[in-house]
Amino acid sequence: MKRIAINQVVKKVGKKVTVSGWVHARRDHGKLIFIDLRDRSGLLQVVFSPDQEKTHQLAGTLRSEYVIMISGVVKERPANLINPKISTGTIELSAEKLEILNPAKTPPFEIESIQEPGEEIRMKYRYLDLRRSRPKNNLVMRHKIIKFVRDYFDKLGFLEIETPILTKGTPEGAREFIVPARLWPGKFYVLPQSPQQFKQLLIVAGLEKYFQIARCFRDEDQRGDRQAEFTQIDVEMSFVNPKDIFSLVEKLMIKLVEKLYPNKKISQMPFPQLTYQESMVKYQTDKPDLRVDKNNPEELAFCWIVDIPMFENSETEKKLVAVHHPFTTPNPKDMKKYPHDPLKWRAYAYDLALNGFEIFGGSIRIHQRDIQKKVFDILGLTEEEIGRRFGHMLNAFEFGAPPHGGIAGGLDRIVAILQNEPNIREVIPFSKTGDNRDLMMEAPSLINEEQLKEAHIEIKKEDLPR
Ligand code: ASP
Repeated sequence: MKRIAINQVVKKVGKKVTVSGWVHARRDHGKLIFIDLRDRSGLLQVVFSPDQEKTHQLAGTLRSEYVIMISGVVKERPANLINPKISTGTIELSAEKLEILNPAKTPPFEIESIQEPGEEIRMKYRYLDLRRSRPKNNLVMRHKIIKFVRDYFDKLGFLEIETPILTKGTPEGAREFIVPARLWPGKFYVLPQSPQQFKQLLIVAGLEKYFQIARCFRDEDQRGDRQAEFTQIDVEMSFVNPKDIFSLVEKLMIKLVEKLYPNKKISQMPFPQLTYQESMVKYQTDKPDLRVDKNNPEELAFCWIVDIPMFENSETEKKLVAVHHPFTTPNPKDMKKYPHDPLKWRAYAYDLALNGFEIFGGSIRIHQRDIQKKVFDILGLTEEEIGRRFGHMLNAFEFGAPPHGGIAGGLDRIVAILQNEPNIREVIPFSKTGDNRDLMMEAPSLINEEQLKEAHIEIKKEDLPR
């Protein structure tokens, strides 16, 4: 008989069904044995009565997390035994046949224990952690959010286009992960901090509307709730101004909340706008939390931050760095008014803040070679560096680059906020620790001599772990 999902069983009162899943709990009441069976869709109470002698005997050997298949008849529960806490609480399955598909060792933590297991053990056994309802539900909602985003952009004529992972550096302000190129001794690929240059080049190619659910990599030191790899909702369009981008993202967020989080309330629509200056003066931050009650996760206070400065002083060196990134258009009025004081230039850059977090950031891009070159000059790049690192961008701008702009949103952060989770690790399927380790896979790890040799890499003795 074909297996059905547990949440379908309620519709089959009086019928015979087969279900499969994991033993969530077992209770023996006198002669009757009860188990809660769990599959992805929910929990189901199964009763083994001594009348079915062989099945009952086998049920006596069941332990937590055994994988089993059961056939039986769906029965309505007497009114006093209805369990309103589970969706199948009005019924139970009276077992006739039981098959143990795979026994299980006692898990290192109780799957649905009242006390949350420690984070290290959860990450080490993430495949068990994901059996718990809270992390599992986060993945279900993450899927629904991604699906919503894809459908939204698809309906508007955007194309989802994949961009390379093995590439060359792109400046987004973080350190980059590097990958040795075996076939090119001494040369390296760099993992993308964002698809920034590729998406702009797709626009130069005339693709007009691009989006991607894009994995990005930043080799940062431990800093707040960040991950070495994370996912962005990456967007780029030609012939747009900031207003077009605002309206695109606002509609996306409003519709998404309406559809998937109808209990949440958006404080203000259209989303309010603050200049960077206003936000810093009034709230001492560029990502203010504008909720009336800062502890209310059901309130969503979005706010655009505009007129973000183009440059700032580097924290570590005596030079200017781009606040957003060097492909952002400086405000032409400021360039004219303060030709020799780029620190006074505002940029056509914008962020979207939500409840105290930056969830989107983007800009209108430079599409003219001379302006791009000027920005690189101000950033202190030499002619040689410009040519070597960004020659392809400057070249592309000479072959009919349309005006364009875009934005990228932190998908992990958006999911975490909507799911009322305190950190993004909770909504990433296999997340890393703050110091970039995957405790389950035990990555990063040593590689063998042979692989090192092939990659033309020698490790200094003093760097080897003892
Ligand atoms: N590439 C930028 C970032 O990763 C976003 C953008 O300008 O579209 O922050």
